[in-house]
Amino acid sequence: MTWVTELAREISGQVLTDEASRQAVATDFGRLVVRKPQAVVRPASTEDVSRLLKFAAKHQLTVATRGAGHSQTGQSLSDQIVLDVTSLDQINQQDDQGLAVVCQGGVKWRALVERLAPSALSPLVLTNNLDVTVGGTLSSAGLGVASWRFGTQADNCLELEVVTGAGEIVPCSTAQNRELFDAVRAGMGQFGVITEATLKLRRHRAKFRSYYLLYDDLNVLLGDLKLLMTEERFEYVESWCVPCPQGFRKAGGQRQPFAQWFYPLHLTAETDGTAGPDTGEKLRGLKFYRHVHTEDGEIGEFFTRLDPLFALWKQAGFWDFTHPWMECVLPWHTAPVYIGQMLQMMPPQALAGGHILLWPARGGASSLPMFVRPPGDFLIGFGILPAIPKNFVNDLLPRLNQASQASMMAGGKRYLSGWIPFAHGDWRAHFAELWPTVVKLKKQFDPSGVLNPGFVKYE
Ligand SMILES: Cc1cc2nc3c(=O)[nH]c(=O)nc-3n(C[C@H](O)[C@H](O)[C@H](O)COP(=O)(O)OP(=O)(O)OC[C@H]3O[C@@H](n4cnc5c(N)ncnc54)[C@H](O)[C@@H]3O)c2cc1C
Repeated sequence: MTWVTELAREISGQVLTDEASRQAVATDFGRLVVRKPQAVVRPASTEDVSRLLKFAAKHQLTVATRGAGHSQTGQSLSDQIVLDVTSLDQINQQDDQGLAVVCQGGVKWRALVERLAPSALSPLVLTNNLDVTVGGTLSSAGLGVASWRFGTQADNCLELEVVTGAGEIVPCSTAQNRELFDAVRAGMGQFGVITEATLKLRRHRAKFRSYYLLYDDLNVLLGDLKLLMTEERFEYVESWCVPCPQGFRKAGGQRQPFAQWFYPLHLTAETDGTAGPDTGEKLRGLKFYRHVHTEDGEIGEFFTRLDPLFALWKQAGFWDFTHPWMECVLPWHTAPVYIGQMLQMMPPQALAGGHILLWPARGGASSLPMFVRPPGDFLIGFGILPAIPKNFVNDLLPRLNQASQASMMAGGKRYLSGWIPFAHGDWRAHFAELWPTVVKLKKQFDPSGVLNPGFVKYE
């Protein structure tokens, strides 16, 4: 009897070994790493997850936990067993008075938003893409356009049910089993599997108004972002860097494409629909170059505002390109020079079907130990998010690796969901004084090294 047959006897969910099922989880959104597992396990319950992890430890097998597979360095891939948690997709309890919801780890944020909409409730932070899982983003941190005031999605998690790498089912929160709670939030699937989460909710207003502003100077934009966060004028803040290609110019003996960069800023206020916000007051003193557009709508339209962009990326074929996304969180004072240099070295066409994001943040909004970020009251997130055909990869990857190294030299920290070509020394440097704790937690909660080997390089 092979181990697969033996495993199938222990699991009440599915153990799939057919080519199509294995192929379906053989790569991720990055499309740079390919690993086809020998088996895909779709658990029917938390107990199945526990049985699987105990079985794997006993048979010296390894397991990669996978949500929607939107990460990009093979974190959710395995050549042995993929644990596909999307089968754990139940929303169990909704507490409208206590403002909390309990759901399984494989639930997608979109399902949660849709379920809560009739009660005018929503999670405090939503990611741009709602088709990722609760367990997947809690394991990365989960950043969104409300993060500047509410921190990450994992900061707004009240309690978790986790199956440790040793197969133990453990409830955890700030009040019980705190060490595990702090390890698995932004823990990259290294310490346990999140099978259930209790998430904080808020009452939202029915409608929104967004102001689309355009800046032609990064420093002016940063000044306004600081003012907006200090005065808390808007619920949601999002920004980009967009190139206006200027043709070719001589650089290093060759003619190179270059661009003039602009910075759209979208500011969104929730409204109750009777009267919109006072525009003069809301935009008072801001130094934008142009007020391009004002958008009003139902709040649900705001939560799904990027759906048409992702649909376009899919229609154009960009979704199937490679995505070596390079995201980092920078100290406020080094951000202008670093970002200016990165934009200078980025040929405008290199982004193809992608974009460059800027997200302002308050340092104190998050208290997650594993979400490592620079010190300071004000921080800025910067993400080069390209979608490129395979034949551009060799040209662009060295530039992105350079951008990643330079972000760390500028005092920044990488956001760990994207393209992370870290060697052992980079991991140590990333976690710095936290590194011995990370190593200790790994030994404590996953003593046989079953979970997601190879991503974090412990030695
Ligand atoms: C178009 C697009 C837009 C995005 N926008 C945002 C954004 O606005 N903000 C943001 O923060 N991120 C964003 N991301 C990144 C994405 O949210 C993260 O990569 C997230 O981790 C993906 O979730 P997933 O369900 O696909 O998880 P996967 O990619 O399947 O897994 C990610 C990691 O979490 C682990 N994991 C998955 N499920 C569990 C579980 N139940 N228990 C323990 N570990 C688990 C995996 O092992 C892996 O290490 C975006 C990605 C895309 C492609």
